[in-house]
Amino acid sequence: MTGAGGFIGHHLVKHLKKKGLWVRGVDLEEPEYESSPADEYILADLRIEKNCYRVVQGVNQVYHLAADMGGIGYITKDHASLSRNNILINANMLEASRLEKLERYLFTSSACVYPSFLQEKENVKPLREEEAIPADPERGYGWEKLFAEQLTAYYRDDYGLDVRIVRFHNIYGPLGTYEGGKEKAPAAICRKVAEAEDGSAIEVWGDGNQTRSFCFVEDCVEGLERIMKSGYQDPINLGTDELVTINDLVDCVCQVAGKSLRKKYDLTAPQGVRGRNSDNSLLRKILDWEPSTTLSEGIRKTYGWIWSELERVGRAKPPVPSFQW
Ligand code: NAD
Repeated sequence: MTGAGGFIGHHLVKHLKKKGLWVRGVDLEEPEYESSPADEYILADLRIEKNCYRVVQGVNQVYHLAADMGGIGYITKDHASLSRNNILINANMLEASRLEKLERYLFTSSACVYPSFLQEKENVKPLREEEAIPADPERGYGWEKLFAEQLTAYYRDDYGLDVRIVRFHNIYGPLGTYEGGKEKAPAAICRKVAEAEDGSAIEVWGDGNQTRSFCFVEDCVEGLERIMKSGYQDPINLGTDELVTINDLVDCVCQVAGKSLRKKYDLTAPQGVRGRNSDNSLLRKILDWEPSTTLSEGIRKTYGWIWSELERVGRAKPPVPSFQW
């Protein structure tokens, strides 16, 4: 598995190990908060072609999660370097997997591939897989993911590689980056709420009325394993269709935290598309399953973990949350 040191990859290693599989983890770095339970862990830069040949040797399936990525603040700057890094990683991993005659190859894509003209209002129609084309994706990151999906499908069509293409919709949970610029909205909001005194104010990016759906990481890794086992070779959404505003998300975190906070809106901050939701019809049809963790349950675990992390360095403010990692 590539990206095994990252947020979703680390959870996926834990999940596959619990299922009794032998796992080789590959990443530029070790996981940030816990050591990896992978049977073998290789530190490698997958932008370099020969490293990709080395890491696929002797395995039969690849979960490919490595990518240069982060939250909206991160992916909306440095389009050139992010796109170049990901183009190299994805092209090299496909070619190495073809040459090693792998049994199966799963590519992790993103809801950022969907056209912006379908996401201009808060109350958007959930996005169906076939709507990605005609294309108008997120600059940089979204274009690169869309092209990598196409490249993955060409390897299926031309070389018979048995591929899976999964589009994630805002995955969150414990052990995800919560500060430093790469964090996503749920983790950033949990951090701000954990550090705030009850009755004070926190900063929210945008006017808070932009909408999204959020998927808990344990559902995500369960879904990945199920998609890998399915025979489905075209792009498929993996997320929830519980559409909430960013204001709802902040309110949910405050409720879990037991704090009453005011919102200070930063209208100059990057916000991404106005509204985005996942249509899970295909997921339900193919897997007879979909993510089921509610936002408040997922946030309870995520907030509890981030609060504990900040507590260790004296930054968390009371009350102590109900969930401790
Ligand atoms: P992450 O940043 O936590 O993990 C990505 C990992 O890739 C990191 O550990 C990083 O070190 C590694 N990596 C980056 N460049 C590398 C290189 N050159 N060689 C080897 N490893 C390298 O991200 P994540 O949230 O775990 O995302 C996993 C995958 O899912 C990515 O492909 C991402 O684009 C995709 N995705 C995630 C979300 C989400 O909400 N988290 C949404 C859409 C898509």
